[in-house]
Amino acid sequence: MTPPAAGSARSTTRPGRGSASSPSSSADKPAGRAAGRTGRTGKAADKPAKAADKPAKIAGRAAKGAGRPEESRLALVRRARRINRILAETYPDAHCELDFADAFQLLVATILSAQTTDKRVNLVTPTLFAKYPTAADLAAADPEDVESIIQSTGFFRAKTKSIMGMAQALVERYSGEVPGKLKDLVTLPGVGRKTANVVLGNAFGVPGITVDTHVQRLSRRFGWTTETDPVKIEHEIGALIEKREWTDMSQRLIWHGRRRCHSRRPACGACPVAPLCPSFGEGPTDAKTASKLVRSAAEALDTQ
Ligand code: SF4
Repeated sequence: MTPPAAGSARSTTRPGRGSASSPSSSADKPAGRAAGRTGRTGKAADKPAKAADKPAKIAGRAAKGAGRPEESRLALVRRARRINRILAETYPDAHCELDFADAFQLLVATILSAQTTDKRVNLVTPTLFAKYPTAADLAAADPEDVESIIQSTGFFRAKTKSIMGMAQALVERYSGEVPGKLKDLVTLPGVGRKTANVVLGNAFGVPGITVDTHVQRLSRRFGWTTETDPVKIEHEIGALIEKREWTDMSQRLIWHGRRRCHSRRPACGACPVAPLCPSFGEGPTDAKTASKLVRSAAEALDTQ
């Protein structure tokens, strides 16, 4: 099979809301030339990348320039944007997998998602939001009741404190509404830059880079950064990728991290960006072995 043709198609941008995206609607496209046309949406379950068919060619391409010390700034920017375009072709439906109907719900769900899976959060939030639909309702809740509802997400006492403290701050300082600016969001209890950027990007349509564990790992593997501090990583990625792409790119990296570029044993031999990745070889390069490591959409939703 042919290694992926980098860079001709534009990304598919989703509307800035996540509630419409049920897990069943999420589907990745197989990578490679056939997946590179615009306007197609993947409806099938994840398939191993076509790149998996010819690992030898991938290996040959991977050695070509990507991430070498002598790579110029311009080459780095071009390579970063090509990776983003290929991931857009591979995951045209990449989106925030937390279910939400408005900014308040997304803020709560994102706080709850710490140290657990989106799937687990999506199991508890319908009950939580039905009982406490507004910031004022949640601020006035009985903490023990909130704890019992969100218990299965783990760290439920600390999370109850955070979401109720956040709701109280919204009522006291923002008339119960979620502010649409980073500088205001990060002043809320339990809200850091990562959570704030999720909310800005997915509920307000303001471009934001979500530096979670997947984005940290992948951006280093791609040679986009050598930093370990999330704020520095955010700024380095922001300097490589077009601002309008920040939110969707973050989701694509998260999807790629959950499906193929795992922390342990990434599926390099089934990876659509292998020709552009200086870390090709961190995981199995053999197509057959690598394709077994690729997670389906359902499996990925159950992954942190
Ligand atoms: S490390 Fe392997 S799986 Fe991850 S992006 Fe690079 S080639 Fe792909």
